[in-house]
Amino acid sequence: MLQVNNLTFQYKKQPVLKNIGFSVKAGEHVAVIGESGSGKSTLLKLLYGTYNLNEGDIFWKDQQILGPKHNLIIGPEYMKYVSQEFDLMPFITVAENIGAFLSNFYPEEKQERIKELLEVVELQPYAHIKVKDLSGGQKQRVAIARAIAKQPEIILLDEPFSHIDNFKKQSLRRSLFKYLKEKNITCIVATHDKEDVLSFSDKMIVLHDNKIMVKGTPQQLYKNPGNKLVASFFDEFNELENLGIVYAHQLKKVNTSNLKAIVKQSYFKGQYYLIEADLNGKTVFFEHGTGLEKGLSICLSILK
Ligand code: ADP
Ligand code: MG
Repeated sequence: MLQVNNLTFQYKKQPVLKNIGFSVKAGEHVAVIGESGSGKSTLLKLLYGTYNLNEGDIFWKDQQILGPKHNLIIGPEYMKYVSQEFDLMPFITVAENIGAFLSNFYPEEKQERIKELLEVVELQPYAHIKVKDLSGGQKQRVAIARAIAKQPEIILLDEPFSHIDNFKKQSLRRSLFKYLKEKNITCIVATHDKEDVLSFSDKMIVLHDNKIMVKGTPQQLYKNPGNKLVASFFDEFNELENLGIVYAHQLKKVNTSNLKAIVKQSYFKGQYYLIEADLNGKTVFFEHGTGLEKGLSICLSILK
């Protein structure tokens, strides 16, 4: 189990994280979310032992994770961290980068392992290409493969799919998270993509104002976001008087009701249209099967 107690940290005078506490069971996947600058990357770096804490402590099982004051080499052996900078070796091939930390003692097993890792990150056709000739997204995939090569007990991923295009992202995400679950590798992922969280995280932590604003399962927080920040992470939403937060898909056009609105704009979203309407001077959003004409008077009802 990873145990974080009362962690407080500042780079300079301004605190970045204050009294952070949480625990992660072995094999569990936790997503850290929060606005840009909320301290997600800093938290991952601290978990990796990159900096000395101002207060608090971090334990993996019974081993304390300590900062550079106590360690010559940053990062415990059982842990891997994939930063957004990748840190690859540009002049050797993808396969060589992935195999760089694997033992040469069993060459056949090593080649098998590299092949398996290339499959996880879907880079088989690029095995013999030099890393310098890859795109940003491809480099990001090499970095992920390299981090899981020696099967860490725990992996820290900082916005792991940020450079990867939508064509590849969905299948890569499934294949990586499935692999980590199968191998019982604990995973902490900093992300601003709800897709990383909804289907693949057991728990989520929301950072705001230097603190953990809320934590819970994605199901709990999706159903009861409690505040605008959490709701906006998941979906388009409205804040309605006396009714609180109502997602756009919970608001429906009906034949009669006392919520009367005027259509302002329709946005095509694929499976549905997102309709922007005026409800007593307040802008609201709801989903509808077709686009609606601007100026149309409609009635709305809430399906909770
Ligand atoms: P996030 O990953 O959520 O976008 P970061 O952890 O990168 O947030 O940053 C949190 C805060 O710490 C920001 O205000 C950022 O400017 C500051 N910060 C990050 N790295 C450094 C650094 N090396 N030195 C000083 N301040 C930093
Ligand atoms: Mg970051």
